[in-house]
Amino acid sequence: MITALSGGGEKGLTLYDATREQIGEVLAGEPSYRIEQTWKGLYESFAEPENITTLSAALRKRLGEALPTALIPVRESVSDKGDTVKFLWHLADGNHPIETVLMHYADRATVCVSTQAGCAMACGFCATGQAGFNRQLSVGEIVEQVVRAARHAKKRKQRVANIVFMGMGEPLANEPAVWGAIERLHHDIGISARHLTVSTVGIVPGIRTLANRPLPVNLAVSMHAARNDLRDELVPINKRYPIDDLIEACRDYLKVRNRRISFEWALIAGVNDTARDATELAKLTTKLRPSAHVNVIPLNPTPGFPTRGTDAQGVRRFAKRLQDLGVNATVSQPRHRHRRGLRTVGGWSAGGADGATQHLGSEQGGQALATLVDLLTQDRLDDRSKQSPVIRKMHGELGAARAQ
Ligand code: SF4
Repeated sequence: MITALSGGGEKGLTLYDATREQIGEVLAGEPSYRIEQTWKGLYESFAEPENITTLSAALRKRLGEALPTALIPVRESVSDKGDTVKFLWHLADGNHPIETVLMHYADRATVCVSTQAGCAMACGFCATGQAGFNRQLSVGEIVEQVVRAARHAKKRKQRVANIVFMGMGEPLANEPAVWGAIERLHHDIGISARHLTVSTVGIVPGIRTLANRPLPVNLAVSMHAARNDLRDELVPINKRYPIDDLIEACRDYLKVRNRRISFEWALIAGVNDTARDATELAKLTTKLRPSAHVNVIPLNPTPGFPTRGTDAQGVRRFAKRLQDLGVNATVSQPRHRHRRGLRTVGGWSAGGADGATQHLGSEQGGQALATLVDLLTQDRLDDRSKQSPVIRKMHGELGAARAQ
């Protein structure tokens, strides 16, 4: 068996994990141009493997048997305006659920990909963090998300121009596979480095590794708090890589890459939306000016859970405060919230169990909830996650909902 070496560990190699050489091994005995035909079919035409018509049916069969695809489509949901598509997949080797989001704009499309099945970072506001970690994704499992989304976009005659590594999981906790995917997306699909963005909660060694990689990709940091005591609570990895170390790594990244860094700030009412928070954040970004940008994420209040998003007026006030303090800050448009998948306080994540059940039918919460429901119903949660008050409460809510 050919095995995938990066990310996913010792598992069967999937189609989009395979290098040209490995495809050559599968097509042994065929003329070498068959490899190029396969490669073009996969990465230029985004063809379904069984539809690469430059190959004979027998060769397509041989390819499909040796190199299966990695993602099993489970659900696809489209926003009311049709501009956002969420895909829920199961990984072929174990039904771990992951998500991909495709966003259509006037002239291009953006794809948000997952990099891990689950996440070990345990951010307090995030459903994925509460549900725990399953496993790393391989290069092919990340790339296949983009290829499938690009295939979908192609039907609307749109080209995927931007990729954001902001879906389920912490990309820099799976940096080798993320980097392998970046190289494939850049070299073979033709997406430029300036249109590839890696978002992290602040894995300092990962930021330093990224700084030394050969392509200047964009860096985004999920900041959410600018003082250690609060950030320790919201983003527990902060205890290991406190704010000073994180900012120093960001500063070094900027020196090497000469790019702008984005800070994501999800506003939680009464938690991180005060004048003090704005002042603290401004102080941090000032250290990085002119190359730091703050992306303020407005969140809808979700009934039934004590942690609520800041209201629209509060969001505007916070952004204005930052701007008055000289910070390059913008408020992201509502649908950008979806791109964070399970990572933000948006959707049901901030709503916890109560909010989740109330959002069962909504476009906003449905996909995220479905992922967690899958984990719950398949009993795939680790022991730590099962102890989480949010998960325990949700389990009870789901049981009650089913009993009705
Ligand atoms: S916010 Fe991101 S890093 Fe934190 S637990 Fe959720 S998926 Fe992981």
